[in-house]
Amino acid sequence: MTDIVIDPALVEAMIMQMGAIGAHSGTGVWRTVYSPEWVAANDLFARLSEEAGLTVSRDAVGNVWSKLAGSEAGKSIVSGSHIDTQCPGGRYDGTLGALSALIALQALKAQFGQPKSTLEAVSLCEEEGSRFPTANFWGSRAITGDILQGDADNTFDFDGVTIADAMRQIGLDPGQIGTAQRDDIDSFVELHIEQGPILEHADLPVAVVSAITGLRHYRVTLSGEQNHAGAFPMDLRRDPMAGFLEIGSGVINTAHRLGRPAVTTIGRVEVYPNGAAIVPRDIHFTIDVRHPDPGKGQELYQLHEQLMLEVANRRGLTINWEIGIDKAPCLSDPVLVDIFRGAAADQAIPTMTMASGAGHDTQQMARIAKTVMIFVRSEKGRSHTPEEFSTIGDIVAGIQVLAAGLHKLAY
Ligand SMILES: [Zn+2]
Repeated sequence: MTDIVIDPALVEAMIMQMGAIGAHSGTGVWRTVYSPEWVAANDLFARLSEEAGLTVSRDAVGNVWSKLAGSEAGKSIVSGSHIDTQCPGGRYDGTLGALSALIALQALKAQFGQPKSTLEAVSLCEEEGSRFPTANFWGSRAITGDILQGDADNTFDFDGVTIADAMRQIGLDPGQIGTAQRDDIDSFVELHIEQGPILEHADLPVAVVSAITGLRHYRVTLSGEQNHAGAFPMDLRRDPMAGFLEIGSGVINTAHRLGRPAVTTIGRVEVYPNGAAIVPRDIHFTIDVRHPDPGKGQELYQLHEQLMLEVANRRGLTINWEIGIDKAPCLSDPVLVDIFRGAAADQAIPTMTMASGAGHDTQQMARIAKTVMIFVRSEKGRSHTPEEFSTIGDIVAGIQVLAAGLHKLAY
């Protein structure tokens, strides 16, 4: 097919214009949901959409939709990402996906005119949980109908303000959240920065994402007998620290041996009573385990659980765990993966397929639509920091893949 023409200067100007709203710490952005900066960013998204000849509407939670109506009736093909940031985040996480969708639609309209299927770009209102830690994909959950009655009054920010009140303050009616639900989306495509170093190591600008990782959080308590560090012989101890060290290095080595993309992390440990001359009584620790392949993920969980039981047993310790978050992997639609790989090949852009180790709005959208993601290389894999950076060349390549894939779907 014809090359998709994207103007790098336009792309850079839009990124800098959006990055100026909530600018923080040099190259950073601080833009939490329903803040004045967030309102300004969505107003800019709406204005840029109108200038691109798209029809703008806003739903009950403040997602902004920019539509290029198709000539035939049927479901929409949607692309976009979140406009809120970490505190502070960078210019690219989320925002790049919203802007890329808008730029792709603008380019398709200019080059190919009206599509058969309706195309929509969306600026999703909240993903990061950076103001309301339990809002948990507020924008995309509103679209899928996953926000329950009363949720808005029970979701608090760090100052105790409910998300319902934050909505009212900017003129949104939390009683209307149900109206944001959509049942007419065929496919959802999210372009996002990679947030890891895999594309940089592979020397590739763009990836098509085959799955978003599954994840399980264990909260483990390992208990033994508290004793004097000098007077109690090693062979008589029931030392939970000894058990913890064995379990900790064991689970990490298991994930390492299983190979990429398996990851196991122990991020939090608490020792009781935490004294230098005391054999501890209890160790509390977390294990975060992730794999994008459903079968391999289960295998990893089983290996970790077996090891925990075996070590505790052998050392005379008691072990208990609770499973907190437990999310199955979200697999991309295989047809969409093929379409977007083909689109990249048509545009002569080299790509790979990879899994996402981070969570995204796409996981929510997968409840109601076929989904796929496109990753753009992140310099040094950095994100959730003002230092995140992708080159305009890589970003343009990502938008070309996005636009070429949308062309295959909608024209
Ligand atoms: Zn993001």
